[in-house]
Amino acid sequence: MQTQANPARTGADLDTIVALCKRRGFVFPSSEIYGGFGGFWDFGPLGVELRRNIKDAWWHANVQCREDMVGLDSSVIASPRLWQASGHVETFTDPLVDCRACHRRSRSDELDAGRCPYCGGEVTAERQFNLMFRTSIGPVEDTAATAYLRPETAGSIFVNFRNVLNTTRRKLPFGIAQVGKAFRNEITPGKFIFRDREFEQMEIEYFVRPEHAETAYREWIQARLEWYVGLGIRRENLSLYEQPASELAHYSRGTTDILYAFPFGVSELEGIAMRGDFDLAQHQQHSGEDLAYYDDVRNERFFPHVVEPSAGVDRSVLAFLLDAYREEADRDGTRTVLGLHPRLAPYKVAVLPLSKKEPLTDLSRQVSRELREHWMVTYDESQSIGRRYRRQDEIGTPFCVTIDFASLEDRSATVRDRDSMHQERVPIADLRRVLHEKLAG
Ligand code: ATP
Repeated sequence: MQTQANPARTGADLDTIVALCKRRGFVFPSSEIYGGFGGFWDFGPLGVELRRNIKDAWWHANVQCREDMVGLDSSVIASPRLWQASGHVETFTDPLVDCRACHRRSRSDELDAGRCPYCGGEVTAERQFNLMFRTSIGPVEDTAATAYLRPETAGSIFVNFRNVLNTTRRKLPFGIAQVGKAFRNEITPGKFIFRDREFEQMEIEYFVRPEHAETAYREWIQARLEWYVGLGIRRENLSLYEQPASELAHYSRGTTDILYAFPFGVSELEGIAMRGDFDLAQHQQHSGEDLAYYDDVRNERFFPHVVEPSAGVDRSVLAFLLDAYREEADRDGTRTVLGLHPRLAPYKVAVLPLSKKEPLTDLSRQVSRELREHWMVTYDESQSIGRRYRRQDEIGTPFCVTIDFASLEDRSATVRDRDSMHQERVPIADLRRVLHEKLAG
C-alpha cells in the first residue's frame, strides 16, 4: 500500500531513531567509509541482537508453538524457471520515469503533480522496470546463465511443497515458514531501513482446503496483529487495510496489510494475502511435476489454497524502535528510555560494579560470567553509576545488577528495573532465578 498521511501517532521521530541507531550501534550505512551504498545497511552489535530476537520471537510464535507449522531454509538463488513460473520475470516491475532536467529516476506513482519529486522538472513517459537483481551463474556470462537473487522468500516454499509433504506426512491444514534475505532493486530506496534493496522477510505459506481459505485468512490477520501488540507495539499505531478488488494482484482473492503509523506516514509492515491455488498450479504447469494434494479420507486430489502472511524484519526493527523510544523528565534533566519488550531487548542484563577497584570487579565479572550462560549480558565499569544506568536505559536493557562494597559482605546485589527505576536487593545466589522470573514477566 502507498504511504498515507499520518494521523496523531505516538512515538519517536525518524531523525531521533536514526541518530540513536548510529550512536549506539544498531544500524550503520553499508560501506560507510566509502560514502555508503543506497538501500543497503549494516547491523551493528545491538542491531544484530534485536534482529535475532525479532526473528526468534516470530519463529517461536509461528513454528515452535504451533503443531501445524514446519520450517524451511532455501537457497537465495534458485532456478530462473521458478521466477518465470511465478510471473516475477514478466511482471515484478515498478513504473519508472526519468527527469529530463536532473536525470534522476523516480517511480511514477511518487511524482509530485506529475513532475520530478526532486527538482520539479518534466519527466519522460513511464516504462516498466523489473526489480529483480540479475546475476550470472558459472564462468560464462551469457543470457543462458542469467539467474536472479530472490525478491521474496515465498517462491521456494511452493517448489518444496511436495518435498515437505512427502517427508513430514502432513495433512491439511499446515504451513511452511521461512525467514531469510530478499533483494529488490528498488527505484527509490529510503526512509532509513523502511525500503531497502537487501532486506529480510519472515514468510508463511499456509495450505488449506479451498473452502477453509477465508477462515484461515481472517485467523492469520488476527494472529499477526496480536503478535506485534504482544511484543509491545501500541495498538493505536497499528491498523488494518483491506485492499479493494481494484487494487488486488491478479492471483489474490483478498489482501490485508498491517500498517504502522511511521513518522513519514501510515505504511505497510506486513501483508497477508489469500493466493488461491495460483502458485501450485503455475509450478505444476511449468515443471510438469504433480503438485496436487491427495486427501486419502475423501479420496480427492486437488490444489490446496494458500494464505500468505509476509512480514519484513527490517520494517519490524524500525517499528519496534520507534514505538519503544521515550524521553522522560527526571531530576538530572531528561532520561531516554528504549522501552523494548524484554524478549526483544539486545541485552537482558547489565552488570555494573560500583567502583573499578578489585575485589568489586572480580565479583562483578564472576556474576556476569554466570549470567552470560543464560542471557546476553553486558558489563560496564566506566563512569558514574548514574550515567551507566542512563546508557543502559537508552539501549533498552531491562535490568541492571549493581555490585557494591556491601556485596562483598552480604553476597547480595542491587537489581534495578529499567521502566520503574525501582531497586531491590537480591542475594547473588538467587540472581538467576529472580531475573528469570522478572524477564518472563
Ligand atoms: P511495498 O508496497 O511497501 O513496496 P510490498 O507490498 O511490495 O511493499 P510485499 O511484496 O508484500 O511488499 O513484501 C512483504 C513484506 O516484505 C512487506 O510488508 C515489507 O515488510 C517487506 N518488504 C518488502 N519490500 C521491502 C523493502 N524494499 N525493504 C524492506 N522491507 C521490504
